[in-house]
Amino acid sequence: MPIRKTEKYEESQVYRVRHSAAHVMAQAVMELFPGQAKFAIGPAIEDGFYYDFDLPRALTPDDLAKVEARMREIIRGNHPFTRKELSAADAKKLFTDQPYKIELVEGLERGAEDEDGNPLTAPPVISTYTSDAFTDLCRGPHVEHTGQINPDAVKLLNVSGAYWRGDEKRPMLQRIYGTAWNTAPELEEYLWKVEEAKKRDHRKLGKDLDLFSLNPEVGPGLVLWHPKGALVRYLMEDFCKREHLANGYDLVDSPHVGRGHLWETSGHLDFYRESMYAGMEMDNETYYAKPMNCPFHIMIYNSGLRSYRELPIRYAEWGSVYRYEKPGVLHGLMRVRGFTQDDAHIFCRPDQMPAEIDRTLAFCLHILRSFGFTEFHAYLATRPKEKSVGEAAQWEAAIEALRGALDRSGLEYAVDEGGGAFYGPKIDLKIADAIGREWQCSTIQFDFNEAARFNLHYVNESGQEEQPYMIHRALLGSMERFFGVMIEHYAGAFPVWLMPVQAMVIPIADRHNEYAQKVAEQLRQAGLRVSVDVRTERMNAKIRDAQMQKIPFMLVMGDKEAAGNAVAVRLRSGEDKGAMPVEDFIRLAQQTIQNRD
Ligand SMILES: [Zn+2]
Ligand SMILES: [Zn+2]
Repeated sequence: MPIRKTEKYEESQVYRVRHSAAHVMAQAVMELFPGQAKFAIGPAIEDGFYYDFDLPRALTPDDLAKVEARMREIIRGNHPFTRKELSAADAKKLFTDQPYKIELVEGLERGAEDEDGNPLTAPPVISTYTSDAFTDLCRGPHVEHTGQINPDAVKLLNVSGAYWRGDEKRPMLQRIYGTAWNTAPELEEYLWKVEEAKKRDHRKLGKDLDLFSLNPEVGPGLVLWHPKGALVRYLMEDFCKREHLANGYDLVDSPHVGRGHLWETSGHLDFYRESMYAGMEMDNETYYAKPMNCPFHIMIYNSGLRSYRELPIRYAEWGSVYRYEKPGVLHGLMRVRGFTQDDAHIFCRPDQMPAEIDRTLAFCLHILRSFGFTEFHAYLATRPKEKSVGEAAQWEAAIEALRGALDRSGLEYAVDEGGGAFYGPKIDLKIADAIGREWQCSTIQFDFNEAARFNLHYVNESGQEEQPYMIHRALLGSMERFFGVMIEHYAGAFPVWLMPVQAMVIPIADRHNEYAQKVAEQLRQAGLRVSVDVRTERMNAKIRDAQMQKIPFMLVMGDKEAAGNAVAVRLRSGEDKGAMPVEDFIRLAQQTIQNRD
């Protein structure tokens, strides 16, 4: 399978287009407030660009429309972007009315000195880019001329406040966000995605569908799973655990806290302390909430003398871990402080290792596909150039095994040369959701560090001690995050096998309630999760509410159905399947569940 060429975004044409559009926008804003606008910084960012301004008044939507119209004029002028190098003194003279630029120039100037205040032999180059009537302190790169920006593929999005240099003690600036693409259809698709992402926001759907909540009284980043969410999680875990057992894993369980000594041995207190919850004192010992499950699994491995005959050993655990994340980065279920990993550690002999990696990757894809994901992007991260632990031969063998597994899997992948952790190479897998966003979930990661620190070994055929390969792997990653991705991927309409309520029985009038209860009981006997809507609402209101709850099957019943032992089946898609015998519906539902549709 060909290795996917992944062009660095910063080196792509669209990056130049976006950064150039930021300059064009700045010119238009400057012209709107002649002699009054102060401009700060304006980089290209993921999917677009922004520029920060210090303006005499707040921008209105009307202003944005004017700026956008003026941008199109400037773009059509085909003005070249010209680069110029200049001295710090000249730069300060050029930006004499622009205090933010002067501060940036001074920063560059200071950067020309080493930490003892001695001038560096090669001072940083100060450069400007000019297009039409606008000159910015800028390193580039840019397009050759404004005509290379597609005027039909540029749009300003919104304005928000941003502190100068992100410092709340500095002035609050107005940040205009915009986006630019190569073609108008690309812009359309992007705008559609943004709208669609809002509708699918798992925080909104989590509330609407009563799946989970976060409560400041509990603590930031700590998730409460409500009955419906917890049921989905139970179904996901139950499926995964069965698959793990069928795939040769052993399930283990370990405590949520461990002695400081353990985390010293593992090295977490040295290199991971900032991400750990503070210690708890007890019996003259310090205990720490676990940020990872590995040391516990290693202790299980080390609880006996292992023979080469026992390997590979695969320990899997739905292990809850706690990590300190800064308040500013917490985000719904996607970034939390307490989460459960579908974690496993594999210990194997060198001769077993390549096959083991193949098997792990195949299993990973099987699990992700079972949840309805079909598009994957794989990344192979190799040995970092700087510090790393482990022998060269181990690294080579491990990287070869990872590369071989990727080649054999048929997945396209990108190689991140030197992008591995200091303790081992890895494969990261991202899944694409229904609207094309990528989510990092799975990882298969070698660890030469823990293996040595905990003196992992087994007795080989000649009776000598040897170090096994140790592999960490998580497939869904974190249950919380994966659930968040599932909510957004399906917009809450999970496949039938995962729905908390699979069928809503809807009696048309009170006199049909008895029949409705009888049918519901029959369906429950057949293993379906069913509710009966006995409210005295009109049928259409009941259908609408069930649809809002994304319930896959709505079974409407009136006199005709009751007389014929039938149900009228409507799907959440709006499709009306008409009346059918109860038995037929049960078969239809069971088939859908079995197919995991
Ligand atoms: Zn620039
Ligand atoms: Zn681990």
